[in-house]
Amino acid sequence: MKKILIIEDEEPIRTALEDDFRLENYEVITATDGLEGLSKGSEPDIDLIILDIMLPGMDGFEVCKKLRNSGVKTPVIMLTAKGQEIDRVLGLEIGADDYITKPFSPRELQARVKAVLRRMEPETDENLGIIFRSGSLEVDFRQYVCLKDGREISLTAHEFELLKYLISNRGHVVRRNELLDDVWGKDVFVTPHTIDTHMANLRKKIENDPSNPRFIISIRGIGYKFIGE
Ligand code: CA
Repeated sequence: MKKILIIEDEEPIRTALEDDFRLENYEVITATDGLEGLSKGSEPDIDLIILDIMLPGMDGFEVCKKLRNSGVKTPVIMLTAKGQEIDRVLGLEIGADDYITKPFSPRELQARVKAVLRRMEPETDENLGIIFRSGSLEVDFRQYVCLKDGREISLTAHEFELLKYLISNRGHVVRRNELLDDVWGKDVFVTPHTIDTHMANLRKKIENDPSNPRFIISIRGIGYKFIGE
């Protein structure tokens, strides 16, 4: 059973979410202010955190930043109000994984939670498939071979790992900070600019028209999304 922490001071919203997630067979714990949220959010057995921004004590931005700065990687979905700075929420500064704008439907939030939890599952050959084909592109993950229009193209190790990561998250936005952590690893010094450079090189190799990409789409200020069945 997945364990969810809901950090929300507004009692009716908190209780409604708690009930909804229990009904969907999640284990639920709650916190009613920023400090309590920070302390419970640091516990290692939490699978996902739902974090409101407007909280007494310490706001949701601070809670998320502090969790990330202390090395907590638990996925965070933020409850935002219209007009809040989404780029900042999802960017390196705050480090949330997704957000949902109030008011939202329980069903919509459930779907986000499921999607984020699925992204966190380790990649295996079974869920990725050994060979990926879409349009002119074919990638063999076991042999580390990439073909475009049937011809082998040469990718660097990082380009191949990037491509693999994008394909295994296809249809979802992948944030630059995720790529930094998951493709390069925490202890290597890489900037978001490095990622953009590698992505540009990768596009030159796999796209027919890199300035009008078909596979790797840029999501401005956030990251990238791979499109392909
Ligand atoms: Ca609130």
